[in-house]
Amino acid sequence: MSALDSAIEEVLHPAAQAPAVRGAAINLLGLDPAALAELVAQWGGKPFRARQLSQWVHQRGVDHFADMSDLAKEFRAQLESRCVVQAPPLNIEKRSADGTRKWLFDMGMGNAIETVYIPEDDRGTLCISSQAGCAVGCPFCSTGYQGFSRNLNTAEIVGQLWYANRALRLDPEGARLNGAAVESPQAVSNVVMMGMGEPLLNYDQLLGALRLMVNDHAYGLSRRRVTVSTSGVVPMIDRLARDCPVALAVSLHAPTDDLRDELVPLNRKYPLAELLAACNRYLEVAPRDFITFEYIMLDGVNDGDEQVRGLVEVARQVRCKFNLIPFNPFPQSGLKRSPPARVRLFAQQLSDAGLTVTVRKTRGDDIDAACGQLAGEVKDRTRINERKPDRARIVIRNKEHG
Ligand code: SF4
Repeated sequence: MSALDSAIEEVLHPAAQAPAVRGAAINLLGLDPAALAELVAQWGGKPFRARQLSQWVHQRGVDHFADMSDLAKEFRAQLESRCVVQAPPLNIEKRSADGTRKWLFDMGMGNAIETVYIPEDDRGTLCISSQAGCAVGCPFCSTGYQGFSRNLNTAEIVGQLWYANRALRLDPEGARLNGAAVESPQAVSNVVMMGMGEPLLNYDQLLGALRLMVNDHAYGLSRRRVTVSTSGVVPMIDRLARDCPVALAVSLHAPTDDLRDELVPLNRKYPLAELLAACNRYLEVAPRDFITFEYIMLDGVNDGDEQVRGLVEVARQVRCKFNLIPFNPFPQSGLKRSPPARVRLFAQQLSDAGLTVTVRKTRGDDIDAACGQLAGEVKDRTRINERKPDRARIVIRNKEHG
């Protein structure tokens, strides 16, 4: 059974959770609103105590229980003895000249995950990772090239948002200049689950994190401003529709099964017809009335007129918008970014056919902002990376045929 097959099997039929270790500290970042309310109730606290605690932790970013001034002393003592508020340890921070910030968090055993903050005029978007590595193995993706290491838990997923909000709110440069904490106008307003990993192959932990993101007493983000991006795990798209519908993006990258089988190997399990049908079911409950199809532009692979015609056909079947993404090259891929003129023409052709299309600006080129690049370097340095040299060859062959 391949790593991808086992990952699918595990998410469809999860093993029973191991019981919590008695005596271990509870990381409050990992408790969704219902679990936090239950914990507080077990201690004899009223529901409003759980809401207060949630606001201290998630909204104000406070990690010292002693600072939670409106909580009763005994309650704080109880928290102190049983709980922690702990984001994953930071390994490296990088800042780009264009304002993009990237944090690399240490996941232990030589694994690292990346979180990227992208400021724009009207929003601050945080791109969050859901797994260390990824089993899907898309050949254009630096994370896929590294293989799968492990799922993140809810605290590790939410911890990225918690950490970013704190870092952005409390600008250390400003603090040094003024001698006091400075409120930054750039806090996270949008979350995209588009970092390392396939979020829907880590469903239960993702769900806990999403419930915190959209909860009014935690991060309070509108469902429209939280996007889950999937390569197309069809049964879990249906589960997400039922459990916590947020905006949905699909890594499409090819309009036909033969090409998509190569670019997004999960397509061999859930081919396009099934995926598009799942998208239509999702739209019945989605907070937005379209699906975003992500489309990475690979020179000579998927950027031809034939693919334009294919995408027009896809758009006939699902209400959608296309987001064209210039490929961020990394050495092992053997792939090239489509020339800017080709990307412009491709976008124009789609637009002329009546489709809504945007082209993603490349951001943070100077800090390896393409997903997985920085974490890949860390893995290389720790020498536990297992190379997968055949990936690039598959697509180049396809390119020759295309
Ligand atoms: S593009 Fe997404 S699904 Fe594909 S390998 Fe990379 S992280 Fe995994």
